[in-house]
Amino acid sequence: MANRRPVKKLDTTIVNRIAAGEVVKRPANALKEMLENSLDAEASLIQVVVKDGGMKLLQIQDNGFGIAKDDLSVVCERFTTSKLETFDDLKSICTYGFRGEALSSISHIAHVTIVTKTDDERCGYKVSYADGKMKGIPVPCGVNRGTQITVENMFYNVPTRHRMLKNFNEEFSRIRDVVARYAIHNANVGFSLKKYGRDDVHVKTLANSTCVDNIRSIYGNVIARDLMEAKETDETLQLKFHILSTSLDYHAPQLTFLLFINHRLVDAEGLRKELDLLYGLYLPVGTHPFIYISLEMAPENVDVNVHPTKHSVFYLHEEAINKKIRLTIQQLILGKQGTRNFSVQV
Ligand code: ADP
Ligand code: MG
Repeated sequence: MANRRPVKKLDTTIVNRIAAGEVVKRPANALKEMLENSLDAEASLIQVVVKDGGMKLLQIQDNGFGIAKDDLSVVCERFTTSKLETFDDLKSICTYGFRGEALSSISHIAHVTIVTKTDDERCGYKVSYADGKMKGIPVPCGVNRGTQITVENMFYNVPTRHRMLKNFNEEFSRIRDVVARYAIHNANVGFSLKKYGRDDVHVKTLANSTCVDNIRSIYGNVIARDLMEAKETDETLQLKFHILSTSLDYHAPQLTFLLFINHRLVDAEGLRKELDLLYGLYLPVGTHPFIYISLEMAPENVDVNVHPTKHSVFYLHEEAINKKIRLTIQQLILGKQGTRNFSVQV
C-alpha cells in the first residue's frame, strides 16, 4: 500500500492529457473530429492522407473558410471554440463542434501542424503545436484558402495506448469507415482518402453527387441497385427522415448500419438491434441488410452533450421515433410503399 500523501491539484498539462485520452481513443476518432471541423468550415472538398493507420501521419486538407491568423494562438487550447458562447446556444447548435476540445486533445497526444488561409488575409500561415500551445509564431506561406491539419506520431507520449494500437490495417479500416460514412451523408462535398505515398484511392466521391451515387462508389453496385427509399416528415414527432435500405434480394454476413441524427454520425444500439431483428424475420438465418438513416429533429429534442466523442446522443420520443422507422422499413420490405430502384444507367 502506498503511503498517504498530500492532496495536490494536478498540473494542467496532465489534466488535459487525461481528458485527451477520452476524446481521442484511436486515430479514427481524431479524424472524425477533424472532418467535422472541415464540414463546419463549409468545405466542399476534403482530402485525407494516412500513414501507418494514422499512427504515423493523419493529414486532412479542406477548402473551407480557414482560421484567422489571430485565432491560431488559441485554437489548440482546451475549451476554445468559435461555435458556442452561452450554455443556451447548445439548444440550437447546428455545428458539429461546440466543446472546443478536439484540437486541444489531439495536440496533447500528437504533434500538430496547421497551415491555413482565410479570404481576409493576403497569405496563409503555418504553425506547429505541442500540449495545446503554439511552438513559435505563425510563419507566412503561399497557400490556397482552406486548412490543412497534419497530425504526426499519435500517442508518442502515451506508451500504453501506443502499444495497443499496433494493427495498422485495423486502424486504417476504421478511418476508411468514418470517411466513407461522412462522404455518403455529405453528398455535396467531395471526399478522398489515400495512403501516404500511394496512388490508389480508398474513398473517392465528387462534390454534388447523390447519396446513392456515393453508396455505389463506396459499397458497390450490388447494394446500390437494391436500395429502397423512404423520405417523410412527421409533424407530431417533429421528425424528418430519409431511409435507404436494401430489399430482401440483398443479404450479407454483416449488418451495415449508417445512422445520422441531425447530421451527426451516431450509434443508437436500440434502433440498430430493432432493425436487424426486423430484417431477421425475412432474411436467411445469419444474414443482414445495409441500412442508411438520416434523422432530423428539432435541435432542442436532441442532447448531443452526452459524451466527449459525441458518439451517442439522447433524443426525446426515442421509442415512438424508433417505432416509426421500424414500421416504415417494414412497409418498404413488404412492398407497401413507393420504392425506387437505383439500377445503374448504361
Ligand atoms: P470545436 O469544433 O468544438 O469548436 P475544435 O477543437 O474542434 O473545437 O476546434 C477549435 C476551433 O478551431 C473551432 O471552433 C474552429 O474555429 C477552428 N477550426 C478547427 N478546424 C478548422 C478548420 N478545418 N477550418 C476552420 N476552422 C477550424
Ligand atoms: Mg471540432
